[in-house]
Amino acid sequence: MRVRVDPVKCQGYAVCGEVAPRHFTFDDWGFAQAKPVDIDLESMGAVEEAIQVCPVRAIRRIL
Ligand code: SF4
Repeated sequence: MRVRVDPVKCQGYAVCGEVAPRHFTFDDWGFAQAKPVDIDLESMGAVEEAIQVCPVRAIRRIL
C-alpha cells in the first residue's frame, strides 16, 4: 500500500508527521507529502492512524 496527500485539502496540521514520521515529509510552507514508498507491515498501523486523524481527511490510499 502507498498513500498520497491531496495538496488542495492539506492544511499543514502536521498530525500525519507526528504519528507516522517515516512516511510523510513537509515542504517549506508546512504542507505534507507522502513519501513514494511501499508501506511495510511494521508501519501500517501508524499510517492508518495518520489517515484517520488528519483533520481534513487529506490522506488517501492509492495502491
Ligand atoms: S495531518 Fe492532514 S492536513 Fe495535516 S499535514 Fe498531514 S495531510 Fe496535511
